[in-house]
Amino acid sequence: MAWTASLALCGGALAAALLTVFPPQRAMAVYRRDLPAAVPVATPSVAMASGATAGLPLLVIDPGHGAFDYGATAMHGSDGTMVMEKNVALSIAIALRDRLVALGGVRVALIREDDSFLPVEHRPRMAEKLGAAALISIHVDSAPGRASGARGATVYTLSPSRRERGPSGRRRNGPNRGARGQIAQGSEIAMILDDLAWRQTAFESAMLAQAVEEEARGRLTLRTPFARSARFAVLSSPEFPAILFEAGYLGNAEDADRLLSPEGRGEIVDVLARAALGFFAERERWGE
Ligand SMILES: [Zn+2]
Repeated sequence: MAWTASLALCGGALAAALLTVFPPQRAMAVYRRDLPAAVPVATPSVAMASGATAGLPLLVIDPGHGAFDYGATAMHGSDGTMVMEKNVALSIAIALRDRLVALGGVRVALIREDDSFLPVEHRPRMAEKLGAAALISIHVDSAPGRASGARGATVYTLSPSRRERGPSGRRRNGPNRGARGQIAQGSEIAMILDDLAWRQTAFESAMLAQAVEEEARGRLTLRTPFARSARFAVLSSPEFPAILFEAGYLGNAEDADRLLSPEGRGEIVDVLARAALGFFAERERWGE
């Protein structure tokens, strides 16, 4: 479920914040009431440099959380202003889109462009609908960093245990291209093709994560290990490589200074933009 994944993703910060404001049963009711099966969300717009063609690869950026789902929260500054992950993630995502459009060579769409909410399991489906060539989900780690001293950025790819078997031939450019429609669902060949598609997507996701690591090393503070895997629903499409980037800890003073300043976010954005463009260039060299 979306709220479960969100809570798992961002530690107990959101739960703690909600439990402070609402009695336990009320907090649950808020989530259940606000998570309809299908949320009417406008199809995101696709941005690209003027004169660019629709043939360019589409990077879908997913700013985590939104609306009543704050994500991680922390008090910051001498006046104790509360900062929210959903806003930091959106700021980074918008800046990343703008930087990529300025650099060219890629089209970009944001899963959400404002403070709206989309359940986490709907996000990869939205990216599939858009025809994503890759997805980067942007998050910020939770307040427990303040107590543990944890700080720094992390990149996640999908844990193999999360891979779900989809209908054969779902992956647009996978090794089963051209074979769809001729293979019975659930047949051994269909399962082999699904497995091959997942393996290719997983390999490309690892490639994208590695591109981020190469750009980030020496420029950003990174956790050790930097590249990890987890069962995040937003990464669970076999159709395109996907990573989830945790940009730092809101509860850590040094990380917060970077995350909450345009200059600091600019450094993060530059790392991600270079990594994304490097990844697409590398994949094109392979003839993907
Ligand atoms: Zn998050």
